[in-house]
Amino acid sequence: MTHIARRGVCLVLAAPSGTGKSTVARALRAREPGLAVSVSVTTRAPRPGERDGIDYFFRSPTAFEAMVAAGEMLEWAQVLGRDSYGTPRGPVEAALAAGRDMIFDIDWQGFRSLRAALPGDVVGVYLLPPSLAALRVRLHARGGDVAAEVDRRMALARAEMAHCAEFDHVVVNDVLETTVASVAAVLAAARAATARLVGLADFVGGLGG
Ligand code: 5GP
Repeated sequence: MTHIARRGVCLVLAAPSGTGKSTVARALRAREPGLAVSVSVTTRAPRPGERDGIDYFFRSPTAFEAMVAAGEMLEWAQVLGRDSYGTPRGPVEAALAAGRDMIFDIDWQGFRSLRAALPGDVVGVYLLPPSLAALRVRLHARGGDVAAEVDRRMALARAEMAHCAEFDHVVVNDVLETTVASVAAVLAAARAATARLVGLADFVGGLGG
């Protein structure tokens, strides 16, 4: 035995829309191949290039409500005052039971609900933009977002960022490599947290000597 059996880490990465969260998550996964992604369900329309079952499970409001009613959602929230987003329960429970780590791209409401649903399993990292001007540039550069939508999201970003202090860690996403290294360090620490090491006694007992 060369490793200690442990519970998986639920790593929540939250940020206002346009902070570069998806890019950070992608780079982190390239570095951490064992990190599974929680694919959320949403009622919003796919953006160009987004694929069902990969970026999101795109569902009608009726289908979304049916999943909530059936208890198939671990958490769900109305985000940006309009569309519904939720975390399907099955894949998360399977990953945790198997000791696999998972990354979640959800908002502060989702983080709060997920932490309540899975006490002890969730670690939250909040990404901040280096400035609001940088955020506006990124929102403009994103395909599919019209000017009115950019303004709306800028206003919502301010409200969203008011919740950053609820998270365990906060990282300013200025230089991608530095951000990814910081989030990877948080993940490494969470993996080694004593409370997560369900096999610790067995491991120590089996060290021999
Ligand atoms: P977007 O529409 O730009 O992909 O995402 C908008 C917001 O919804 C982001 O802040 C994202 O983190 C959040 N979001 C995505 N999936 C979920 C989810 O399953 N639950 C919650 N609570 N928020 C989510």
